[in-house]
Amino acid sequence: MSFNQEIHRRSMLAGVFAAGVCGKAALSAGSSPAFASQNDGAGIVTKLPEKTDFVIRNAYVMTMDQVLGDLGDADVHVRSGAIAAVGPRLTVSGAEEIDGRDSIVLPGFIDTHWHLWGSSMRGLFGDTPETSYFQRRTAIGKAYDANDMYFGTLLGVAEAIHSGITCVSDFCHNTASPLHVEACLRALHETGFRARYNYGQAQGVPPEASINLAHLEHLHKNWAQYSSEGLLDLGIGWRGMLGGGNNAEAVLKTARLEYDAARRLGLPISVHASGSRAREQMDALLSGNFLQSGDIVIHATDATPEQLRGLAEAGAAVSLTPFTELRVGYGLTFIGDFLKSGVRVGLGVDSSALGGNADYFAVMKNLQYLESGRTKNELAIAPRKLLELATIEGARVLGIDNRVGSISPGKRGDIIMVSTMALNMGRFADDPSHLLVEAGQPANVSMTVIDGRILKRGGKLTAIDEEKVIRSAAASIRAVRSRM
Ligand SMILES: [Zn+2]
Repeated sequence: MSFNQEIHRRSMLAGVFAAGVCGKAALSAGSSPAFASQNDGAGIVTKLPEKTDFVIRNAYVMTMDQVLGDLGDADVHVRSGAIAAVGPRLTVSGAEEIDGRDSIVLPGFIDTHWHLWGSSMRGLFGDTPETSYFQRRTAIGKAYDANDMYFGTLLGVAEAIHSGITCVSDFCHNTASPLHVEACLRALHETGFRARYNYGQAQGVPPEASINLAHLEHLHKNWAQYSSEGLLDLGIGWRGMLGGGNNAEAVLKTARLEYDAARRLGLPISVHASGSRAREQMDALLSGNFLQSGDIVIHATDATPEQLRGLAEAGAAVSLTPFTELRVGYGLTFIGDFLKSGVRVGLGVDSSALGGNADYFAVMKNLQYLESGRTKNELAIAPRKLLELATIEGARVLGIDNRVGSISPGKRGDIIMVSTMALNMGRFADDPSHLLVEAGQPANVSMTVIDGRILKRGGKLTAIDEEKVIRSAAASIRAVRSRM
């Protein structure tokens, strides 16, 4: 059976299961009983590595912990999923020793906005209005079944781990059925990834259609079964308070319903304020007092200083995703304006399919260079500040800085190791922040650890079959397009 036929068979099965004809299918090894979807993952994800006891020796450690700072020749001990100790010449017995020489160790990168499900659409956005991003994403997205959501999310997670990203705020706006949603949650769970799953709208439905609030409530009530031992939490990918069109009133009524559900369930909100209507969206959110601490406003395109102050006063954060903002024509992202306003800032990939890839080093570099270019000042922003935004500040945006975001004893073991033994690297300076931001690339990430599990080692993913994840995503998108 070819991959295409296999995908088609699974799509057929998905329909059968969605119709409730069959009962719950066999779950793959390692799945939580909560997941009702039938896909066996085509063997893409192998058994997750154990949370072993290991110590990285003699690395340059950027803890991003205000008290500990940088440690030039130090060790990091990770035990039972947590950071047990950090410092020079640690006395550790019984742990695996990992050579950290010629390497920089730092907290994993934290992405504050990404639509993981669409990762398999890369390269499909073209040169005509019909093939432009929003048009085409909707046309393709509404033909996705649950399996396609699974394969797209897996591809995104695989690239994230490769790039040193250990946590993503996943804005899922293709929730056509509970199976679609659970397929994404299962991909996050099976890969041992850390994420916030933001329940958003479906693609291609009428604008007044609400998200499936009954399913959202079900997930919230039963979250212990979905949370992947605390690695996943739940949010809402909200539409915000923009009406428009013939049925503006109905759209706003639905928006209000979704908002009330989020607040009743205590779920953090992520909301786009982007493109030509960004200011209008921010005004509506601010004047209606819709935002509170823990909420995230995505892009905040062309935000005025007053609007940024308003967001800061409400306790909301902004998520900046410079590559997609450039690619889709929202304009130039000037990080200095956001930082000056005092609003909390996190960074993001948004869409690897639109932005090109999930190179988080390039996200930081893009912002640094734009700011220097605009201000005609080489010193406009220190790359260390961008590394803070990518780690500890990202954790603050997501409200998880008590658990991750710095290499501090007691926090969870989410760390990355970047090798300097590469032609584009070679550490010749004491402070490696310029080196990381200006020269670093995902290929230099030799190790990615999430919750103490080593998910990339020696430059290779340990639990995800790289070839299979690529082939299955490609087969999935071919099948989707043939169904359109
Ligand atoms: Zn987005």
